Amino acid sequence: MPPAPATTSAYPPGRLAFPHRHLTGIMGLQPHEILFLLDTAEEWIEPNRTRAAPDKRLAGLTQINAFFENSTRTLLSFEIAGKRLGADVVNMHAAQSSVKKGETLIDTAVTLNAMRADVIVIRHMSSGAVRLIADKVDCPVLNAGDGRHEHPTQALLDALTIRRRRGRVEGQRVVICGDILHSRVARSNMLALTALAAEVRVCAPSTLMPPEIEAFGVAAFTDFDAALEGADVVMMLRVQNERMSGGFIPSTREFHARYGLTLDRLARAKPDALVLHPGPMNRGVEIDSDVADHLTRSAITEQVEMGVAVRMACLDVLTRGARGVEGWA
Ligand code: ASP
Repeated sequence: MPPAPATTSAYPPGRLAFPHRHLTGIMGLQPHEILFLLDTAEEWIEPNRTRAAPDKRLAGLTQINAFFENSTRTLLSFEIAGKRLGADVVNMHAAQSSVKKGETLIDTAVTLNAMRADVIVIRHMSSGAVRLIADKVDCPVLNAGDGRHEHPTQALLDALTIRRRRGRVEGQRVVICGDILHSRVARSNMLALTALAAEVRVCAPSTLMPPEIEAFGVAAFTDFDAALEGADVVMMLRVQNERMSGGFIPSTREFHARYGLTLDRLARAKPDALVLHPGPMNRGVEIDSDVADHLTRSAITEQVEMGVAVRMACLDVLTRGARGVEGWA
């Protein structure tokens, strides 16, 4: 049962505002806990823009970014977030790791733990791998994307972008279109946006739509034009070729014809509807360049900016106990 939607920022003080040791997913978070992370992230947006008075609250702490799957923007975003807070940030790439040599996930967890990091950020190609490692280490773990499972900081940065640009998340009609089946971004967003009382529509060809998707509290569409009617936000997803075997779509040209976001198609949404994409984009496939680069409608670069603030908030909140912050220890 998903938690009852919340629209107020009223959350309990201290540790109770976010009583979790790790952030492995949006699943299991209460609406007020999501709002607490968004509000905490909000506080970093201005300091990030002005860089006036650096706040090195994570000074002396070691942050390991253990990335077992390729990433550019998420890795960079977590690295910048950690460094802005003064942490010593170390990146571990899969290509250089023993995973390639056949080490098990448990061995990896034990090894990471022996490094005595204060916080570990993990991206992994296997769904559930981050939770498994989190259960074996002594410090907080943040999920930077695991297989098709979850990408919680992406959903948080999307919710923050929507809230800032549209004024609120509650009641917003958000259309998520593309490869829903293989997308951890879609999954985390469905959980976060429904928890915050948005009206979520998902749209995909039937081959890329998970069965029983309505259990997420969303409405499912195979007709993109119908899904777009009256939308406040349109979130486009990449076809996750690396996470599928066999032909899920006839061709990229056909996919673009039915599910690509063009300016013409966007006209079906509200006149001021916002366009989001988690990146990396396949221009000309799920999104046209004149939409992606649209000066007023596209919030894609703002998403990247919000990503740093959200990750700073998560790193800060999850290390408060270890740092002995009052009310959190
Ligand atoms: N960057 C997102 C992810 O890691 C979306 C994508 O790869 O298409 O899942």
